[in-house]
Amino acid sequence: MPPATNHHCTFCDIINGAGEVSVCYEDSIALAFMDIQPVNSGHVLVVPRRHFESFEDLPPELALHLFEVAMRLEPAVRAVTRAQGMNIVVNSGRAAGQDVFHYHVHLIPRKVGDGFDIPLPFPGSEMQNRMQLDACAARIITRVHQPARATARTGDVAAD
Ligand code: 5GP
Ligand code: ZN
Repeated sequence: MPPATNHHCTFCDIINGAGEVSVCYEDSIALAFMDIQPVNSGHVLVVPRRHFESFEDLPPELALHLFEVAMRLEPAVRAVTRAQGMNIVVNSGRAAGQDVFHYHVHLIPRKVGDGFDIPLPFPGSEMQNRMQLDACAARIITRVHQPARATARTGDVAAD
């Protein structure tokens, strides 16, 4: 299915057979293939056949299916690559580093000393006190219980 917008989508091309790809899993809903520029060899992308841009756009049952596929593939990727660990990563939205706006889950096999890092806690961040943490949690709880149509799609919770 083509993207919702008129923007060209590399992953839709791949799914429609218009681009070279190394597929390692497929079913009627999802495809998994090798990342063209892997962090480490064995880096896999799990992708829905239907075009959805980001996490917030996904129907929940599709999100669950993609994670089920990721869970099935993870032991195989780990075994094949002899990885010591695995980053299961979703970059959702430009601000979060998403480059390809067709939702995907990264399976990134890791070895000690491979040089890749998702540094958490972020070195530039500060510890928050309990009042700040509780206040943020309370705002999220309130928001979660609001009707879906009243919930803003981006940014609201982070605004202090
Ligand atoms: P993002 O930053 O959107 O989470 O990650 C996009 C990923 O897609 C990157 O790791 C990048 O290497 C990979 N990628 C981009 N274009 C292609 C492509 O044409 N084929 C494949 N297999 N992977 C791609
Ligand atoms: Zn697409």
